[in-house]
Amino acid sequence: MNLTRRELMAAAAVLAMPGVRGAARAAGLPREVDVAIIGAGAAGIAAARKISAAGKSVLMLEASPRLGGRCVTDVETFDVPFDRGARSLYASASNPLTELARSQQVDVVPAARGQRIRIGRRNARAGETEDFLALMVRVNRSMAEAVRGRADVAVAKALPQDLREWRNTVEFQLGPLSNGDDLDRFSTADLLSFAQRDPAASCRQGVGTLITRLAGSLPVALNTPVTGVRWSGRDVQLETRAGNLSARAVIVTASVNVLNTGVIKFTPDLPKRQAEALSHLSLGTRERIALDLPGNPLGLGRDEVLIEQSHSARTGLLLANTGGSSLCQVDVGGAFGRELSAEGEAAMIEFAQDWLRNLFGGDIAKVTTRASVTRWGAEPYVLGAMSVAAPGGQPSRRVLAEPLGALFFAGEALHEALGGTVAGAWISGERAADAALHKIAGAKAERPAAAKPAKKRRAPAPKARHPEPLPRSGLRWPNAGR
Ligand SMILES: Cc1cc2nc3c(=O)[nH]c(=O)nc-3n(C[C@H](O)[C@H](O)[C@H](O)COP(=O)(O)OP(=O)(O)OC[C@H]3O[C@@H](n4cnc5c(N)ncnc54)[C@H](O)[C@@H]3O)c2cc1C
Repeated sequence: MNLTRRELMAAAAVLAMPGVRGAARAAGLPREVDVAIIGAGAAGIAAARKISAAGKSVLMLEASPRLGGRCVTDVETFDVPFDRGARSLYASASNPLTELARSQQVDVVPAARGQRIRIGRRNARAGETEDFLALMVRVNRSMAEAVRGRADVAVAKALPQDLREWRNTVEFQLGPLSNGDDLDRFSTADLLSFAQRDPAASCRQGVGTLITRLAGSLPVALNTPVTGVRWSGRDVQLETRAGNLSARAVIVTASVNVLNTGVIKFTPDLPKRQAEALSHLSLGTRERIALDLPGNPLGLGRDEVLIEQSHSARTGLLLANTGGSSLCQVDVGGAFGRELSAEGEAAMIEFAQDWLRNLFGGDIAKVTTRASVTRWGAEPYVLGAMSVAAPGGQPSRRVLAEPLGALFFAGEALHEALGGTVAGAWISGERAADAALHKIAGAKAERPAAAKPAKKRRAPAPKARHPEPLPRSGLRWPNAGR
């Protein structure tokens, strides 16, 4: 390492200079680092901060031209910051990002509590809302009973039969809205293992802004997809188009959908246990259609959140008048979200406008001044929104987090109670960093010790600081505006 540390510092300094991150490839990669990190989203940045704070050399290799992964704030299109991915910090009181936001001069503001329900062109009456809430309590009980002492099943199989006029709403609420996928595709045990996610908060400057700021001047090579990882118990070699890089440990934070495509070739292949775990995890779909609707044509309050009593899967969630502005956001997900996204931007905007017209009346298309849509499912280095485990696949999250020699995985999908969230990604990144530092310290201590008699061996391992598991949730309502 000594030989190349100077080289590394020089390259890192170039990579870290504001405004030249895109030039990282031209600057060339260092030959060696202590820890390489694949991906500069929340998990990668959290890991890089820890490695760097421990005084080890680190480099994030990021395939896309920007930091943040699924946390990105568009500050140009509308009058207020528009979070295209994550926009809520769940369980904000215990969320590690709430405290970190203060250090970055990012204002954390409470998100709207609960969500209004629209039935056709009117708001649900109090009795109707209570009926729905009571049904959700029954749904949660039914799911818990379905898996108690038995094999895990898909959520669709764990629901009570008589969901009456609320069936589509319940299915949307638990599926595409909360988890990005349809209920026949993911595990009841996984859903029940999630920590309580409310009350939530948002960031005035955007969650994407927060995550990007947290990267500070950490070394990153943008536009640098990693195509191969040669790993062993001792070290790793990474292959990129900009050259190869050796590291004493690597933390892989690419999404499970990216990993499942095989675009990163592992040599040797991942062991069966890890390969199987990966195959049980996938990303669901969550896409966002943002419309600027000046003059409040929907007649709603600031940050008001609304769902409808829907009659099909063609439905969405509205976050109106973001931060008191005229920006209104419609989220769609699951199979319907995938189909709509495949039809393209114009079809997505048209759906949102029609949906709002059916609920509120008026010519929404005519009053739309600006629009923007996300297509996370088509972003080649993300390929979806948030992770779900297939029925029976809940333990996969923990299995994938197990170290493999010098190879460590991290990312939202690896957090057993906060899967699919920024906090889960962040904590997972920190855990992987602790484990990688532990590995490096262990390796260092073992080398000189090898020449000495066994009894004199001293290999003090730093304590892994794994946070306590968060409280498990029962009822998952309200889940405003995720
Ligand atoms: C529409 C939407 C809404 C959401 N809402 C919320 C919310 O309100 N609250 C919440 O907590 N969570 C929310 N989430 C989920 C949250 O955004 C994610 O859980 C979290 O950001 C994932 O972080 P990560 O670091 O694990 O992965 P990512 O953010 O996906 O980061 C992985 C990085 O790896 C890079 N990469 C991939 N392949 C390679 C390669 N071969 N070489 C180099 N780099 C590579 C990618 O480009 C990416 O930057 C939402 C997600 C979406 C899409």
